[in-house]
Amino acid sequence: MKGIDIILCQIPSNATWIIRKIMEAMRYVSTITSTHGSLGDRLEEMVHNGKFSIKCMYTTLRPQYPKVRWKSLLSHLEIHPQHKFCLWLALHQRLPTVDKLQSFGLDVPKACILCAAPVETLTHLLFDCPITNSLWSRMLKWAGEHRPIGYSQVEVAHAVKWAKKSSGNGGILSSLFAMVVTVIWRGRNLMRFQRGQF
Ligand SMILES: [Zn+2]
Repeated sequence: MKGIDIILCQIPSNATWIIRKIMEAMRYVSTITSTHGSLGDRLEEMVHNGKFSIKCMYTTLRPQYPKVRWKSLLSHLEIHPQHKFCLWLALHQRLPTVDKLQSFGLDVPKACILCAAPVETLTHLLFDCPITNSLWSRMLKWAGEHRPIGYSQVEVAHAVKWAKKSSGNGGILSSLFAMVVTVIWRGRNLMRFQRGQF
């Protein structure tokens, strides 16, 4: 190792875990300093009221991700954990609808199991399908919102607005939103895989 740049050299396979971690940390800091200024500049950002702050260091070193507009919806305490999980998958476009399965090369029946539309996509299944659209309409009517169902981004924006309400029925409505998404997904699975009824 003598005379070798420790940042550039390969981590030896026989290195102990502590040496391995130190070398990995050095590389990480090196990466950050090369993209965000010198180490001195970075250390300046970790100082608060003239003192080095662990909190500032954590904030500075932590990767920065763009804020998602539905954070308040997913973090709402009144939403049932199972519904929250399904909603998380839906908002991240991770529910395995037919269009996704086909993109993975899987040969599955393409049509929407609820209305026989040519291709099942997440947007179609959750909002555009006449069957689920009718379910949302009834839910909105019950909630006292007399408006037509919008496309997915509009409805998610409404749910986020409900979740941000600190009083009134905001908690109930955002919980209901997550529940309807889950009910649609489970109903779709029941019909597709177990020939059940929605
Ligand atoms: Zn449909």
